[in-house]
Amino acid sequence: MEFEAVIGLEVHTELATKTKIYCGCTTEFGGKPNTHVCPICMGLPGSLPQLNKKVVEYGMKAGLALNCSINQVSRMDRKNYFYPDCPKNYQITQDEKPLCHDGYIDIELENGETKRIGIERIHIEEDAGKLLHTKFGTLVDYNRAGVPLAEIVSKPDLRSPREAVLYFERLKSILQASKISDCKMEQGSLRCDANISVREKGSEKFGIRTEIKNMNSFKALEKALKYEFKRQVEAVKNGKKLTVETRRWDETKGITEVMRSKEEANDYRYFPEGDLVAINIPDEWIEEIKNDIPELPHEKVERFIKEYEIPKYDAEVVVLSMDMGNFFEETAKKSGDPKAASNWIMGDISKLMNEDVIRVEELKFTPMHLAKLIKLINEKTISKAIGKKVLEEMYKTGEMPDKIVKDKGLVQNSDEGAILEVVKKVLQDNTSSIEDYKNGKTKVIGFLVGQVMKATKGKANPQIVNKLLNEEIKKL
Ligand code: ADP
Ligand code: MG
Ligand code: ZN
Repeated sequence: MEFEAVIGLEVHTELATKTKIYCGCTTEFGGKPNTHVCPICMGLPGSLPQLNKKVVEYGMKAGLALNCSINQVSRMDRKNYFYPDCPKNYQITQDEKPLCHDGYIDIELENGETKRIGIERIHIEEDAGKLLHTKFGTLVDYNRAGVPLAEIVSKPDLRSPREAVLYFERLKSILQASKISDCKMEQGSLRCDANISVREKGSEKFGIRTEIKNMNSFKALEKALKYEFKRQVEAVKNGKKLTVETRRWDETKGITEVMRSKEEANDYRYFPEGDLVAINIPDEWIEEIKNDIPELPHEKVERFIKEYEIPKYDAEVVVLSMDMGNFFEETAKKSGDPKAASNWIMGDISKLMNEDVIRVEELKFTPMHLAKLIKLINEKTISKAIGKKVLEEMYKTGEMPDKIVKDKGLVQNSDEGAILEVVKKVLQDNTSSIEDYKNGKTKVIGFLVGQVMKATKGKANPQIVNKLLNEEIKKL
């Protein structure tokens, strides 16, 4: 019997607003406990919530970027539960009328095929506070209480842990590129609950599902789902009954564990939030937000492959950050050599940036500089090896490459007469290499080229060096 997984993800993302969803407190991460709070987000009696318009805007933006329809009249609801991280004893969220519904994300499978994953709904809600378990007992920090969230619920369309990761990755790249969320997974601003069941391949019926709570890395998601898939398949094979339950992923043990089963599940007694009016969204507002969504990373990748004829690999690497993508595009246009642009960005520039841990906007040079450098090499004013040195200098100082070349006297030497002198000298000094060459070890040419380049401080035109060396060695 062969089994397949059925997976649906519920992703929570903190929206990039400056203030909280129902009050004016800051959403900034961290801070001394209970300093980003007020009577509203602490749930004090008599305080009244006010809906932050920006939250609706970001929520809609997420919906539109994810191909959803917008409910032009939507509503906030109370979800009742008792837990110290939620001081009102209810969360203001959306139940029956979420902001967005019926969207999708196209993911690219490893075999190159595209698969469409449905999105059931997106609703906006408030985050809860955080419990701190200390030696003085359990304390609570409400700085996070009231930070706006969008919950993005997928349809159960995913069929393997790998697909779930591909979906989650693409979702992150879309949210990040459209600046809906900073998506800092290590700070919890993007996290996911994964629902999984198993069934015999070919069967239409869904099995009993479990929900794995709060994963905040792609690795954890994949590992937890793989574990849970195996566990459920074993159970079914052994005739054991699975139960609907919520589980937790234990990273160190590498297993999922039961948190609560259905019998203990809360009855949230949802009802309309009486302190907030319905949300009415006019057509113009939707249009406005649509126009505000940038070209998304996967769209950019496709366009770069078509427009600039660079390999898919290159396009994916340069688009890893939106700013880098833009940097590439300008360099490609200005230099007329897109492949050289992506090579420089993926190679030497990324290396320098990684060493100093800096971002594109912190670079001292612009696409104009890089384009000029590419031109200097293509016009054979400097060699590629010298180009690397010029890049380093340009990276340090932000000087134009032609100025660096002039100031440092780095212009490539294509004077055959002068190079011939050096070639002859190198051959004289390396008689054993000539022996090797005559004995069929033609690889020594590489070594000899290196010696000539060294003697000319990298300035000799390598093509000419190669040509002359081959000619001269044959004469000996
Ligand atoms: P709840 O709010 O109780 O968690 P939902 O109906 O909102 O329930 O479903 C939550 C998630 O579970 C969705 O992403 C959905 O795709 C997924 N899901 C539903 N049924 C199954 C199933 N049998 N196997 C796997 N995932 C499922
Ligand atoms: Mg759920
Ligand atoms: Zn507040």
